[in-house]
Amino acid sequence: MIQMKTPIVEIDGDEMTRVLWAVVKDRLLTPFVNLKSEYYDLGIENRDKTGDKVTAEAADAVKKLGVGVKCATITSNAARKVEYNLKNLYPSPNATLRAILDGTVFRKPIEVSCIKPSVSTWKKPIVIGRHAYGDVYKNAEMRIPGAGKVELVYTNADGVEKRLLVADMPGAGIVQGLHNLDESIRNFARSCFLYAINEKLAVWFAAKDTISKIYDGRFKEIFNEVYETEFKAKCETSGVDYFYTLIDDAVARVVKGEGGFLWACKNYDGDVMSDMLASASGSLAMMTSVLVSPSGAFEYEAAHGTVQQHFYRYKKGEKTSTNPVALIFAWTGALAKRGELDGSPELTAFAKKLESATLQTIESGFMTGDLAKLAEPKPKEVFDSWRFIDKIAEKL
Ligand code: NAP
Ligand code: MG
Repeated sequence: MIQMKTPIVEIDGDEMTRVLWAVVKDRLLTPFVNLKSEYYDLGIENRDKTGDKVTAEAADAVKKLGVGVKCATITSNAARKVEYNLKNLYPSPNATLRAILDGTVFRKPIEVSCIKPSVSTWKKPIVIGRHAYGDVYKNAEMRIPGAGKVELVYTNADGVEKRLLVADMPGAGIVQGLHNLDESIRNFARSCFLYAINEKLAVWFAAKDTISKIYDGRFKEIFNEVYETEFKAKCETSGVDYFYTLIDDAVARVVKGEGGFLWACKNYDGDVMSDMLASASGSLAMMTSVLVSPSGAFEYEAAHGTVQQHFYRYKKGEKTSTNPVALIFAWTGALAKRGELDGSPELTAFAKKLESATLQTIESGFMTGDLAKLAEPKPKEVFDSWRFIDKIAEKL
């Protein structure tokens, strides 16, 4: 049995991913590792019961212990309020965690030989570095009931105001206020350059500074500043290029290029583009995702959601063929990092073995339904999640 020195933060979630979370632990982890974890239940019922305090507590625990692993969670909305009989609606738990931890989410496709990317020119993986703070994920928005003036007002510490007209609205409509922080953008740029130098990848950053001259313009400015003043020399000696372009141009180039770079994306672009990338790489479940905070904490997660439709079928008694690979890789990422930080090479080696057992299982022709549709050669057998996990355990 492999021992752990320091616990990791275990953040449980919802629906189908919660069901599989327990199966992964039971079949692939606890038989081999004496798991030490601090458990936080971010299932929607417990978030509601605790007035969402548990989410902030989980973030603080990740800060304290340095490594966390997170299951997918429901972001509540009106329909979920009825479904789960909730007292209140809370912001997305991911947005709350990211706002507290700050930093950058790195997302990388998980490659297997039997799945070719849908974009035939891609030869090397594209990694997304998604800024994890602010913008639309920490917005203030309002419905405007009728004609009137909408303004931005900034009041400094001395009470001096600065105003800017957003719109003289002729009738009802909507308005939204976004913000970001220079320091957070600077840390975003730093994390991206550090990651790219470590992995020897070019860095692309894209925004829409032609339209948003101040907001997106500031992102571009800070990225350039951080590159010029802190990383240019290191990038040049490691052969890492930095390239800025407009977001629409970046999208066009990504689809024609051969991959092999880090694509630094603003928060929303990273949300959308990482799902595109995962899907083009086979499945939303074939992607790793880790939040790297400037304080040195790491939170590993599955980038997909709770797979709601599969959960409803599971509740009716069906053994669904939901792909658990991203959940498994969230655990292996966290355990490998824990091993590295604690000086426990056994733990890190175990995580790597579990990853290769997972990939080998798929490459030897046993997989879940999402991959079966795309695999070449055709799979030997399409498994439900339970049998697939058992097959990995056998290999392990
Ligand atoms: P989703 O759970 O990612 O699922 C969307 C569709 O993608 C599924 O219906 C399924 O397609 C496919 N899919 C995703 N993960 C899969 C897997 N592991 N194996 C096989 N197929 C997979 O997104 P959603 O249905 O939009 O959202 C459900 C809930 O998750 C929402 O409440 C949302 O708030 C939450 N969410 C959480 C996170 C997070 O915590 N990181 C992220 C996104 C969404 P088929 O039905 O065609 O099989
Ligand atoms: Mg998303």
